[in-house]
Order: sequence, then structure tokens, then C-alpha cells
Amino acid sequence: MARTAAVIVAAGRGERAGSPADGPKQYRLLGGVPVLRRAIEPFLASPGISELVVAIHPADEEAYRRATAGLALRPPVPGGASRQASVRNALEALAADPPDHVLVHDAARPLLPPSVIARVLAALAEHDGAVPALALPDTLKQAGGSLPSRIAATVSREALYRAQTPQAFRFAPLLAAHRRAAAEGRDATDDAALAEEAGLDVVLVEGAAEAMKITTAEDFLLAEALLGRGIGPASGTRTGLGVDVHRFGPGTAVVLGGVRIPHDEGLLGHSDADVVLHALTDAILGALAEGDIGVHFPPSDERWRGAPSRLFLAHAASLLAARSGRLLHADVTVLCERPRIAPHAAAMRETIASILAVDAGRVSVKATTTERLGFLGRGEGIAAQAVATVYLPAPSS
Ligand code: MG
Repeated sequence: MARTAAVIVAAGRGERAGSPADGPKQYRLLGGVPVLRRAIEPFLASPGISELVVAIHPADEEAYRRATAGLALRPPVPGGASRQASVRNALEALAADPPDHVLVHDAARPLLPPSVIARVLAALAEHDGAVPALALPDTLKQAGGSLPSRIAATVSREALYRAQTPQAFRFAPLLAAHRRAAAEGRDATDDAALAEEAGLDVVLVEGAAEAMKITTAEDFLLAEALLGRGIGPASGTRTGLGVDVHRFGPGTAVVLGGVRIPHDEGLLGHSDADVVLHALTDAILGALAEGDIGVHFPPSDERWRGAPSRLFLAHAASLLAARSGRLLHADVTVLCERPRIAPHAAAMRETIASILAVDAGRVSVKATTTERLGFLGRGEGIAAQAVATVYLPAPSS
């Protein structure tokens, strides 16, 4: 498999987005998280990318350390006098152990969707380079001078695109193009321009509106608004749903919500068949988009035979904790004719709350019959439904 590195260009002084006292825009907070950290995060989360290097202004070392605290990154490289020089420094830093492919991304594009990374990487299978791009929606006018100005021409927007980042390239030819441009004193505003001049085969692929570059104070407001609509890195409040059913069989008790309830039948299952904890585990996994209980604890695995289902729920809770998330609320409904659930609901809430390490006020357990209808009404088994609401903070908070 090809080795792919990412270069994040963060060396600009970019103070147009605020007063100079605010410092460079890539270190300002967007939705409580530094812009640079948001720009880095999709690459760290991308399974195709094995290393990442950031080019920074030497004066920003302290801000860089704060913005990237806790992230697994190699040391930053010093930027140069121009964007092109900064990219070249980063490429030279990678050249000692060259990757096959490299993606070059602007730190000022903090809301990059992972789909754009996937598209430019996919294009490298057939081309030397790929650039995400967007068509131009507005009619283009050429002015005779600064505004107000007489219109010199209306320019056809047909076949015109705005270039975004990350731009992806085969590493060796891009490095060669940078070295040649530096030797000849040529400067370009993006890497594709150098690659095109070098005769490389660079294609445009579909970009994304969210991959906008933050340049002005208005761009910051727009980016904040996009974040508020759930666009950008996965954070915020999420809800997951879980459903489980187990069949009755011979036995003297059922285990529901971690509580043993004497009964004239038991529930059949690979584990202890606790439908309440299974449904709730699936609800939390669902809120995290982490698959389902069968993915994490395959029924084919003998280790889970007869296992107490609190293990499954505790695992889901640990995945939530690993992302610094919190359970806001869980609500479970048990569906059965018998046994009666109400006398045990309080104990089930306490047990679930203790497994999840939350206050019992955040856990609800209730029950209903199905009016003797269907398989539950005939007393063939017990079902449970669960909803979990979790909060996932942005990566650095
Ligand atoms: Mg189950």
C-alpha cells in the first residue's frame, strides 16, 4: 500500500481575519478549537495517511504547541518567506524517508470533509496530482481598475474552477518541481501550478463548499455558522438507537438491566441474554457511529459465552470516554407480558448508572406489554428498545 504524508501550511501571518492583536488566523479559536487543530484533525483521522508535518512561522512555536497539544505529530518545520517556500521546507523534511504520495493543505481551511481527502487520494491511482475544485456560480466581470470601475469585459465562467486544498501529488515529482522552481526563482500560489509547469498530469476533482478558506472576519462568521449546523469535525450532541430481542427457554430467572429477576423461564442467548443492556450498548455505539454489539463482541467468540452483559455496556462507555464524551441521557423501554418490570425498574436504573458512571437521574427504565399481540404478546421472548444521547466535545476541549 502506498505511503501517504500530509503537509499543513500554517506559516502565514494572515491577520486580515481580525485585528493584528488577535494574531495569525490559524491559531484563533473557531467554535472553541484552534483553526489549525481543526485543519489537522481530518488527516489524523484518515486511515490512508501515515504521517503529518506542519510548516509554521518560527514566531508561532508557543501558539503551535498550545493548538496541537496531545496530537501525535512530528516536530513542525519552519516556514519560508512564501507559501511555496514553506511547502518546500516541509517536503524536504519528508524527503529523508520519502512517502509515495503527499497531500498539501492550507491551515486556513478548518472544515474539510473527509470525502475530499478520499477523492484526491483516489485520483492518484491514475494521475500525478489531483486538486479539489468548485465551479464558479457568479458571472465574472473584468474591471478596468479599482471599484467603482467601468466593466472592461464579461469573462465566460465556463470551464473555470476555484482551486482548493488538499492538493494531492506523487511525492517525488512534486519535490522535483519545487526544487526546480526554487532554483529558477519562480513562485506560485499553489502546488498544482508548479506541477502543471513541470508537465505533470494534474486533474481537478470535486471540492466542497465547507472546505472554504478563512481569509476575512466575515469568513470566520460563516465558518462558525457552518459549525453550528453540524458541519465540520464530529462534535456536538448525538443520539443513538438500540433494539434487542431474546427468546424464552428453560430457566428460573432472567437478567434485565443487570438485575436478576426470578421467573419460571430464562432467556436464551450466547451471553446472559440481557436485552436491556444489549439494546443500551447498541444505542451508545450508535451515537458514536461505532457499529453494533456484534462487531465488538462476535457471538462466534467463545470468550463471551455466558458473559455478564455489563462488560458490553462498560466497553461502549469506554469508547465514549476515549473521545472525552459524556452520556447525557439514556432511556430504555422493555417490551414483554411477564415478568413484571416495574418492581425492578429502580434497581435496573441504579445498576445501569453505576456501569456508566453517571447519576441515576440520567437513566430511565420503563416497560410496556404489547396487549398480548405478536410474539411478545404470546410470551415467546422479551424485547428492549433504548435511546442514548451523548455529547462529544470538539477534539481539543
Ligand atoms: Mg442480544
